[in-house]
Amino acid sequence: MERIDLHAHTTASDGSLRPAELVQLAARLGLRAVALTDHDGLDGLAEGLAEGRRLGLEVVPGIELSTRRDGLGSLHLLGLWLEPTDAGLRAWLAGQQATRVERNQRLLARLAELGMPLDPQQVARQAGGPVIGRPHVAQALVAGGHAATVADAFARWLSRGRPAYVERVRPSPEEAIEVLHRAGGLTILAHPGLAWRGERARQLGELAALARAGLDGIELRHPELAPDWAADLAAEAARLGLLPSGGSDFHGAAKPEIRLGEPPVPAEWLEGLRARRIARLPDHRRPC
Ligand code: AMP
Ligand code: MN
Ligand code: MN
Ligand code: MN
Repeated sequence: MERIDLHAHTTASDGSLRPAELVQLAARLGLRAVALTDHDGLDGLAEGLAEGRRLGLEVVPGIELSTRRDGLGSLHLLGLWLEPTDAGLRAWLAGQQATRVERNQRLLARLAELGMPLDPQQVARQAGGPVIGRPHVAQALVAGGHAATVADAFARWLSRGRPAYVERVRPSPEEAIEVLHRAGGLTILAHPGLAWRGERARQLGELAALARAGLDGIELRHPELAPDWAADLAAEAARLGLLPSGGSDFHGAAKPEIRLGEPPVPAEWLEGLRARRIARLPDHRRPC
């Protein structure tokens, strides 16, 4: 079976491989295509797309956005086939980036209150780029001797409900879907159920609301998706006209147990998504 991976992170957010290195790894593994879906930013796309052209491997330019639904917690959306230079999207992302910077300041202040002052410069060095996230704070906590591993730092301090958890202002999923569509992208619900609270029946209801808001697809393959839940979601997705997608959510050394291309995602799924994408393009951008 030909395989693809439509969810992966690079040094442009909280992954450890550069975009070109990630594309090289995808090529070595024999994947048919790989999507770059860094959190909240488009900065890795140009390098990844160029390496894809060089190696003859299809690179799908994407993003992962965190959105929020009151009571349900966090919903992550992937945008696929984004225009890396889209001015409207870039302006909206700059606003998102500001909420992240503000959250990070409050997070470091909270850690200092808890007796763990971290040097903001050191945290920024862990990130090596503009998108600074909790994984980088976790690495700094490990370096400072406040946690044994990144996972331990989350479990003790950084996860929701833990002493240093700080809420971030996030958009609604409807807003994120609209912004991604306006930039010519498809929208995919990432790792359904992973970060949601609530019963599965309630989550299926939420899926129907997202489908009405224009959601295009849903990840039915992801390392943290339980097979019985994936089967229920697949049936519901088919009923709602949502296309299947999937990927590894690879982060490199930042999540060493995750491997690019695992679990396997069939290459046919890419063609289903591509057909939907062409149907969504405004007339002047549609290939003849
Ligand atoms: P942020 O967007 O800055 O709030 O950070 C969220 C990121 O932290 C997620 O995308 C994951 O990559 C990472 N993360 C969340 N929970 C954990 C965990 N328990 N262990 C390791 N990494 C985590
Ligand atoms: Mn991440
Ligand atoms: Mn996610
Ligand atoms: Mn991800």
